[in-house]
Amino acid sequence: MRRGRCRSRTWLDRVVERLEAIGADPLVGVERVDRLPDAGMLVAIDAVADPDPGSPTLMVVVAHPDDEAFGCGSVLAHATAHGWRSVVVCATRGELGEPAPASGLRPEQLPAAREAELRAACRVLGVGRVVLLGHLDSGTTGPPAAGALVAVRPARLQDQVAALVDEVRPDVVVTLDGGDGHRDHAAIRDATLAALDRVDHRPLRTYLHCLPGSLMTELTGLPLGTHDEEITTVVDVASLLDRRWHAIRAHESQVPPFDAMDARLQHAFLATDHLRRVDPPWAGGPVETTWRPVPVTTLWPRLPADDHPLTTAKENR
Ligand SMILES: [Zn+2]
Repeated sequence: MRRGRCRSRTWLDRVVERLEAIGADPLVGVERVDRLPDAGMLVAIDAVADPDPGSPTLMVVVAHPDDEAFGCGSVLAHATAHGWRSVVVCATRGELGEPAPASGLRPEQLPAAREAELRAACRVLGVGRVVLLGHLDSGTTGPPAAGALVAVRPARLQDQVAALVDEVRPDVVVTLDGGDGHRDHAAIRDATLAALDRVDHRPLRTYLHCLPGSLMTELTGLPLGTHDEEITTVVDVASLLDRRWHAIRAHESQVPPFDAMDARLQHAFLATDHLRRVDPPWAGGPVETTWRPVPVTTLWPRLPADDHPLTTAKENR
């Protein structure tokens, strides 16, 4: 949703101020509509308050700024919309990303700009905490530089992720599936899955965020993406498109791949999340329509910890 201009802003300003005061990040859309009986405007306000401290937690582990928005934006927005807290762990500052021609950024300005964009997108998506692991973008080809993500000792990367999992104690972890062929995406996926094998706190569920092979082949003509039959979880996130686009546009230095798609393909990529459940292992059957272990948990946010459905679910494993 775009922030719009409105001549009579007094009441709107007041609503926005009140939402901001409770920690919400309101998105305001104002559209002039001449077809109303009296020419006027439609105003839409979309805001989410900070979740309760005891809410379930999602951890999303990615390689570059923009992975959280271009890739996992709807997962994060979906978590926020359902009262979940979320943490984004990002391995690099996207040093080798290609600056959009209009950005005017020099290469040395890119890391700081992309970190700021990551933080701005996360605010839009309602993410409570962003952690940067401090490695360098490896780029897609050629020998990686010292300190590049694919050159980091795997055990060190796993230690970093494992320490964060044990500190944050997420209920669900989502990382990249790496099916787009980027070696950094594969590196952070491998490190995250290896870390989860040796953490003290085992999340209830772990997922890979996928780009369906059928869509990737249609887009690129190449056999990229995840085989459609490996996708276990399909979530309708069409209602979150406005917020998703707002987060995508926070990455001003990058050209989103969706801009080059026709409306149908764009909708296919953005209005539905596709994931692959890796833990607990998928036993087959119809795909899930949510990655949240107990979808009705927000109906009982006030229960004592012992009776909380997520606590109960953990103890019963
Ligand atoms: Zn990436």
